[in-house]
Amino acid sequence: MKINRNFDSLAESYLFARVAEKTQAYAAAHPDRKLIKMGIGDVTLPLAPAVVEAMKKAADEMADKSTFKGYPEYEGYDFLREAISRYYGSFGVSVSPDEVFVNDGAKSDCGNIGDIFSPDCTVLVTDPVYPVYVDTNIMAGRKIVYAPSTRENGFCAMPDKSVHADIIYLCSPNNPTGAAYTAGQLKEWIEYALENDAVILYDAAYEAFISDDLPRSIFAVEGARKCAVEFCSLSKTAGFTGTRCGYTVIPNELEFDGHNIKKLWYRRQSSKFNGVSYPVQRAAEAVFSPEGMKQTRENIEYYKRNAAVIADTMERLGISYTGGRNSPYIWITCPNGMGSWEFFDFLLEKANVVATPGEGFGECGKGCMRFTSFADHSATVEAMERITKALHDA
Ligand SMILES: *Cc1c(COP(=O)(O)O)cnc(C)c1O
Repeated sequence: MKINRNFDSLAESYLFARVAEKTQAYAAAHPDRKLIKMGIGDVTLPLAPAVVEAMKKAADEMADKSTFKGYPEYEGYDFLREAISRYYGSFGVSVSPDEVFVNDGAKSDCGNIGDIFSPDCTVLVTDPVYPVYVDTNIMAGRKIVYAPSTRENGFCAMPDKSVHADIIYLCSPNNPTGAAYTAGQLKEWIEYALENDAVILYDAAYEAFISDDLPRSIFAVEGARKCAVEFCSLSKTAGFTGTRCGYTVIPNELEFDGHNIKKLWYRRQSSKFNGVSYPVQRAAEAVFSPEGMKQTRENIEYYKRNAAVIADTMERLGISYTGGRNSPYIWITCPNGMGSWEFFDFLLEKANVVATPGEGFGECGKGCMRFTSFADHSATVEAMERITKALHDA
């Protein structure tokens, strides 16, 4: 028996382990200091009341023989696919219910979609990058090429026509940089994809954080239906990180290599996936109800107020940053030319604040730091005061 040797090519993922190790060592040596964690990549506010109510009601239905549900459909219940289709319509994007595949979160499908593409495909990712796109494709033995996101391009990597790719991962608003593409920039990526006969795998997990006039979906941009698949999730939209529900959108007409992509994906899902539980799909449906929308938006506004506090502080300190307006992430260039880990130590020791070193997300993240807006508001304000003081004292 031989294992899949592609696993040998995975880079050791030590970013969060090293952050935790350094943080614990500091806390143990200074038990009197109150550390503020601004590295959290998980939501912290509870589910909206309307969502919990729907989940409880569905649980009751499961307890009664006349309303009990067995296996759900592979692609999700119609009531949820229709709600998602109407949600797209609410920001002017036309997606029909039969183009929606309900899943247990965007992370799984971002990796699983690779099942339907050849291992010979070249995969393009932007750098810095959400590690899922890289690691899942290394496991499949694919070659990866990187498009640099830098200060010069506002951390919005753009296509290089001299580089060929078959699969293109884009994430906007971006994790980790918080930068979001304009419609014009996405149009350039779509043109590049069409010229290369490539598929764009578009991760819209943070679309609900967009408040500027920017596309909430790649399907808001002309040409996308001929080259793109979109992944979205209720994890950040509605605090579903522990509840698990997302959706993948595949246009009916999307074709590559003489094959209809939606059909292939249905074939793949029906072989490897038995759907999302009924109570969770009812909870997801409630997110899109008027009451659920109102309540989940309040939570997003809470995080966005935190993001604004962080962004304003960076502005005042003259530190260059992206994100914070259309994203829960604020991505900064470390001050005074400090490296990511050097500034990490500075923040930990001088301000007792923990953030995430940018170089953990790729070469182009060197010298950068990611702050998240998922902490409590008062802690966020205090962290920013401490950082301001530490930098003034330095
Ligand atoms: C959080 C996140 C997701 C969502 O993943 P789920 O599996 O739906 O929880 C997807 N993409 C990115 C870039 C994320 O940061």
